[in-house]
Amino acid sequence: MASTQPSRLYEDLTGPEIGSTINKDTILLLPIGAVEQHGPHLPLSVDHVIAHETASAVIAECGETLDVWQLPTLSVSKSNEHAWSPGTLMLSADTMMRVLLDLARSAATSGAERLVLLNGHGGNTTLLNTALREIRLETGLKTFLMHPSLPPAYGGASPEEELGMGIHGGRDETSVFMHLRPDQVNLDLAERKVPEGLAENHHVKFGGSTSFGWLSNDFDAEGYIGDPTDANPELGRQLFESAVGTLSEAMAEIKTFDFGR
Ligand SMILES: [Zn+2]
Repeated sequence: MASTQPSRLYEDLTGPEIGSTINKDTILLLPIGAVEQHGPHLPLSVDHVIAHETASAVIAECGETLDVWQLPTLSVSKSNEHAWSPGTLMLSADTMMRVLLDLARSAATSGAERLVLLNGHGGNTTLLNTALREIRLETGLKTFLMHPSLPPAYGGASPEEELGMGIHGGRDETSVFMHLRPDQVNLDLAERKVPEGLAENHHVKFGGSTSFGWLSNDFDAEGYIGDPTDANPELGRQLFESAVGTLSEAMAEIKTFDFGR
């Protein structure tokens, strides 16, 4: 998104400017995406485009007032549920944890004391929640995790028409991407791919009392989960803007967060 505001990209600063610009009241924002298959209707880039654009929009909204700086987007992450598909680039779980710890350790030398992970890929969520504590213990940083939309497997909303299973490449994600990159979506290739049988379970289901390990081709050979056929850019715009509003409000709480002390 074009912006007339001065850059708040960490990498645009010089080394000496870090010392005079970043301090204990600065919030560092690390967008985390993925490069992984999203079915035939979407490119590999979906999660990192959404994470990057959401972070940029949040910074445009509150970067000046809350002193937020945007770290370079981590574009490749833990996508092993899509490892079966050509195109997917991934880090293993232990590599990803080491990458996060190395990034946090080096970012902490800037003098900032708060690090926010903005995650666009649901497959990272469990690991990132673990990383929050690992980073806090090792570096002393106060750590936070936010999502443009909380994945349904972690209690996030998903449309009724998708039976709560718009997990990957479904209506909402496809709509947001249509809003951001309209020329890169081919809805002619999209079909309804909802694992209807799962909806009958009371416990063993996405977001149920009992979790299960899954790969994206366990449900269907094409590896997307949801119903993108009704996706549209207007819905995408609404979801995107609502997410930016919510995350900007959360950033204001992060600014002063001190464990309730
Ligand atoms: Zn995605």
